[in-house]
Amino acid sequence: MIVIGGGLAGLAAGVALADSGWRVKLFELRPYLGGRATSYVLPSGEHVDNCQHVTLGCCTNLDDFYRRVGSANKVKFFDRLFFLDPQGRSGAMQAGILPAPFHMMGSFATFAPLSLGDRLSIARAMMRILFTGGKPKEVATPAGISMLDWLRSQKQTPHAIERFWRVVLVSALDEELDRTDARFGIDVFWKAFLSNRTGYRMGVPAVPLADLYDGCRVAIEKKGGEVTLRAPVRGILVENGVVTAMQFDGGREESADAYVFALPHTALDNLLPQEIKSANPALASLDKIKVSPITGVHFWFDRPVTAEPFITLLDTNVQWVFNKTALYHPGEMSSRGPNLPEESAVSSGQYLQLVISASYDLLKKSREEIIDLCLKEIRQALPLAREAQLVKATVIKEASATFSPEPGVDRFRPPQTTNTPGLFLAGDWTATGWPSTMEGAVRSGYLAAEALLRSTGTPAKFLQPDLLPTGLSRLFT
Ligand SMILES: Cc1cc2nc3c(=O)[nH]c(=O)nc-3n(C[C@H](O)[C@H](O)[C@H](O)COP(=O)(O)OP(=O)(O)OC[C@H]3O[C@@H](n4cnc5c(N)ncnc54)[C@H](O)[C@@H]3O)c2cc1C
Repeated sequence: MIVIGGGLAGLAAGVALADSGWRVKLFELRPYLGGRATSYVLPSGEHVDNCQHVTLGCCTNLDDFYRRVGSANKVKFFDRLFFLDPQGRSGAMQAGILPAPFHMMGSFATFAPLSLGDRLSIARAMMRILFTGGKPKEVATPAGISMLDWLRSQKQTPHAIERFWRVVLVSALDEELDRTDARFGIDVFWKAFLSNRTGYRMGVPAVPLADLYDGCRVAIEKKGGEVTLRAPVRGILVENGVVTAMQFDGGREESADAYVFALPHTALDNLLPQEIKSANPALASLDKIKVSPITGVHFWFDRPVTAEPFITLLDTNVQWVFNKTALYHPGEMSSRGPNLPEESAVSSGQYLQLVISASYDLLKKSREEIIDLCLKEIRQALPLAREAQLVKATVIKEASATFSPEPGVDRFRPPQTTNTPGLFLAGDWTATGWPSTMEGAVRSGYLAAEALLRSTGTPAKFLQPDLLPTGLSRLFT
């Protein structure tokens, strides 16, 4: 069988099918695997992620995939989320001793960047999410309602919206609250923060992203399959409603019993022949799925400026700061907290990666403007950065980083099965119930692989269940 696209969706489908004994031929346009979640080497020799990627404890399928390909030990999980505002006030979120859903109550009660009034209003909305088991009926309409409208209906204070809901959700969903379906926003809080004690734990790769996929090629080749890079599919041949071959450069053609297309939805829309589109009304609305941008900024300082592995910044353009030096070399990391380089064993320079999600405003700014803006914010937040020299900087703008989780977007997301025999779809944008994430991509790949095996009369199960609600949260499902 043939998989087109070597992002997480294609890799998950390919590896699951190879594990089931299939000979998989995977073709990828680019010279490396991982699609949007990858890394490459700059001309200067540094390995950079196209952007920092993180996972959460509730991402059960991504976790399963990393295990399958032997990469689980390359992702480090953290229990403590650290927040910092421009006034230097900090706060941490960490599970305490109470059972779910009250495990975060201790951190939340003392979270300095929010006033008591803000915290009470947030607690009220959390109760609404909790008592409905994460599914309030007012958001369950096909056209959806925006997260901002839902928060206003729950009487959230402007400060609570700006400094809490927006901070968590713009990073998690890569979209502003007025353009986010409340169903996705509420799901983040239910799955990551309320239903159990471990869903919020943040997993950060301790290696460049591309290194996470080393085991994929091995898994596929072990079963007689092959992975071909720099191999863009240029056309799809169809006869009597059935796909007969893929066309590549130089007139090369490849055929198989079945095909999994794991391309971005925009690329698939351009590639699909009209005959296939006509036979599949579910593919008629791909052009209605919009995209949203993420900007990654890479700073190399001449000395350490923070000892935290990562920080969430409040009230700034920069939303997250990742201390790549500490993440790649955990043995050298101080546990004493931020801004303590004397105590830190990190000896020379420090590499930070900054993330700005839903970065619409930055798309039109020049590289220099973005660097100046971010450097100012980093120097405001981290006093030690004021003395440090910025040795080098890189800006990576991803204009189509994710699909936009707009209200009602699920109406346009097709299932992994099609009406065309032997043709299956994967991609974070297909119907998974999840937003545009690595978890959503892996789910789609597993679902496509399951559908393919069902169609051949050899069913298998790859999809992993969500984390089960624990503690008192079990009472609300
Ligand atoms: C900047 C950025 C930051 C992100 N941060 C996070 C995060 O922190 N956590 C998280 O969970 N998610 C994050 N995401 C989202 C996540 O990366 C995606 O949801 C996921 O990687 C999508 O995987 P996919 O396989 O569906 O699509 P893709 O990764 O887009 O894979 C599609 C593949 O198809 C290939 N292709 C295209 N055309 C052809 C062709 N004609 N022939 C052959 N191959 C072709 C592409 O090269 C690509 O490799 C982020 C995304 C970006 C861009």
